[in-house]
Amino acid sequence: MRSLAVVLLFVALGLVGLAAQTTIPSRPDPAIVGPEAATQAYLATIPPDKRARSDAYFEGGYWLDLWDTLWSAAVLVLLLHSGWSARLRDWGGRFAPGVFLVPALYWIAFLVITDALSFPLTAYTGFFREHQYGLATQTFGPWFVDELKGLAISAVAGAVLMTVLYAVLRRTGRSWWIWGATVTIAFLAFFVAIAPVYVAPLFNTYQPLRDESIREPILRMARANGIAASEVWEVDASRQTTRISANVSGMFGTERITLNDNLLKRASPAAIQAVMGHEMGHYVLNHGYKMLVSFGVLITIGFGLVAWLYPRLAARYRDRWRIEGVADPAGLPLIALILTLYLFALTPLVNTIVRTNEYEADIFGLNAARQPDGFAEAALLLSDYRKLSPGPLEEIIFFDHPSGHTRIFAAMRWKAEQPR
Ligand SMILES: [Zn+2]
Repeated sequence: MRSLAVVLLFVALGLVGLAAQTTIPSRPDPAIVGPEAATQAYLATIPPDKRARSDAYFEGGYWLDLWDTLWSAAVLVLLLHSGWSARLRDWGGRFAPGVFLVPALYWIAFLVITDALSFPLTAYTGFFREHQYGLATQTFGPWFVDELKGLAISAVAGAVLMTVLYAVLRRTGRSWWIWGATVTIAFLAFFVAIAPVYVAPLFNTYQPLRDESIREPILRMARANGIAASEVWEVDASRQTTRISANVSGMFGTERITLNDNLLKRASPAAIQAVMGHEMGHYVLNHGYKMLVSFGVLITIGFGLVAWLYPRLAARYRDRWRIEGVADPAGLPLIALILTLYLFALTPLVNTIVRTNEYEADIFGLNAARQPDGFAEAALLLSDYRKLSPGPLEEIIFFDHPSGHTRIFAAMRWKAEQPR
């Protein structure tokens, strides 16, 4: 369930951009030494101990994805095999006046139980490990309150989705999976559209960027690229993290470009402009809509897989699980189990779809901002939490953004080819 949630949240919160902080002693000219040598000179500015810590953090994430999937799968199997899921549905049926509200009641109970059972891993990944690597700024109390807010949002948003989804599942026959996928994709688009206005401000304070010396070059770049923006937004991400970041969020008119206060504090004006050029690339190249289409296809195939596997498994474990057809809310853990394993298997594909968009935004940003060294600086700052120089296959499988090496090389190649 968590990997599904991560994908949904990722799309909802936009396309996270860049971060890092280092002073560059000398910059070999890539037109003379070549883009690769210029890239290596940049990479060499990160001390070996910092590099080792960043590699360890990022590589640990590969394993955490696996443990998270296995843990989630175990929780879902437990719900089915213990008969709790069927009992939850029966309980919902006693409280709800009609069949219409049972899925929402079931969902809230399901969410609380699965989140509680996953909490040890959530706390390790989201709190203790972040502190261990010096990336977190919150004490446990405020962190936990943020978690509870996330739970409340999932409860409300999920209850709406479940009510509509199961109403559709009860009315459609063999083609339910196409209708189910359509409802899910429409809901996703709706959530992405309202997230910057109604969800993100629950966690952080957003305000228009005031510093004119930073804002004006950004707005000029926006106008030059046909973006009718009158504001750039600043968010107090330092409330939670030391990471530098920026993003484009929203859809259908709520789009906005936001940079975080860590980026403003830690990066040079050239790096900030480079990052903003990248974010504008997401907007101009319509990456939000393209990702919705790509994920829409994957979601539809996933529902098709559920349509194939669900009846077979439900029949096989009929006596233990006591779940009926796919329109039975008690079967939700089985749907979640199939989708969780499906999405985990698709990790390299999902990462490649996202990373390809990110690379397009990188190239757009280099041309828009014309700050190759600023872009390299930002790529180094991002090495706080992203491995700088992975192997080619490792980058394809595990990276949802280009690696530092890929990004700096693109910048140095761009710089080398500028007319003298
Ligand atoms: Zn991006």
